[in-house]
Amino acid sequence: MNRPVLKLRRCPRRPRVLDGHPWVFAGEVERPPQDAADGHAADLVDPRGRSLGSGIYNSRSKIVWRRFARDNGAAWDEEAVCGRIDAAVARRDPSARFCRLVWSEADDLPGLVVDRYDDVLVLQALTLGVDRLLAEIVGHLRALPDVTEVILRNDAPVRRQEGLARAVSTVSGAAVPPRWFTVEGIEYRLDLTGGQKTGFYLDQREQHPAVGAMAAGRRVLDAFCHQGGFALHCAKAGAASVLALDSSAEAVEAARANAARNGLTITAEVANVFDYFTSHREARGLFDLIILDPPPFARARSALDGALRGYKELNLRALRLLSPGGILATYTCSQPVDRTLFRSVLADAARDARRSATILAEPRQPADHPVRLDFPESEYLRGYLLRAP
Ligand code: SAH
Repeated sequence: MNRPVLKLRRCPRRPRVLDGHPWVFAGEVERPPQDAADGHAADLVDPRGRSLGSGIYNSRSKIVWRRFARDNGAAWDEEAVCGRIDAAVARRDPSARFCRLVWSEADDLPGLVVDRYDDVLVLQALTLGVDRLLAEIVGHLRALPDVTEVILRNDAPVRRQEGLARAVSTVSGAAVPPRWFTVEGIEYRLDLTGGQKTGFYLDQREQHPAVGAMAAGRRVLDAFCHQGGFALHCAKAGAASVLALDSSAEAVEAARANAARNGLTITAEVANVFDYFTSHREARGLFDLIILDPPPFARARSALDGALRGYKELNLRALRLLSPGGILATYTCSQPVDRTLFRSVLADAARDARRSATILAEPRQPADHPVRLDFPESEYLRGYLLRAP
């Protein structure tokens, strides 16, 4: 069988794929050859016919080609994909029981995300090329050491953009009810088939104890607490008090149950953080440590301006409530808000709050969520730990 070849058009705007980016958009290529099949491998060449690598083709997606290898002619079949999974797993810390094992383009497996929760793997298939080989992939994952179950969280809305149906299932066929898992020394009741993300904010698991380590004797506010990761570590480390807020009643209930299970004392309340800050705006010095870990305000560049205003407002209000010498642990998981932008927003917020602040640390997503230099979309989580005199 001949290998289908996609050819880049001569575009006025230079396609990013020429600079190593792994995506090609529909408007960037000439009419695809007849033999190009959705969900299968195709080669890419530039307008002069020079090779740009192997990728998965899908005419139904806006991103028609996603590179998985720099050489042309590379296979995308059971053997090749399972080999790439093994390579991704080998790059992770073998002792980590809770981590991301496979991260899509960053592991040269566009559209495959696999998280490990002890003996349970949670998989997301986000492209047709991955979905087509799902049975083989799941069989391979199930056979990895210490794995008893694989959950297929194929309910992500982006599946629609690839022409795929949405559903959640398990390899065993049995239901997986919520159960207790111990992450970084704290027990959480996790719902891996229905919770936010794949059940837990694995990308913040290193930050929970790192911020906790600064909490002894402090009055802590964990805004946007979800299951209470930050709040619980702060309580464990000997905080003077811990208030945890989330707008989701389910999240607050989970945080309370987790606190009880771990024998820790926190106050968890359902609240909109913006409203809370408005009603407490006169309460200067109310907290000695504030954690801000909101949901993404901007997923796309088009939403950037509004997002930056949101981050500024939030951080400004938090800084006003911080006691002298207080610590602000603040994060953004909006991919387009890069470190330079986030830092300038924080500087604006501090200026308007009439506070100076020094940078204690600049945390980022953990190493199991690798960032590729040629794929900015792989970097999304940025944080600052600030001390405000
Ligand atoms: N800090 C958590 C993750 C937070 S995710 C951890 O490390 O596990 C963001 C959380 O913010 C979600 O639980 C969501 O329910 C909550 N949220 C979103 N908008 C909110 C708002 N305006 N006020 C309070 N909570 C909000």
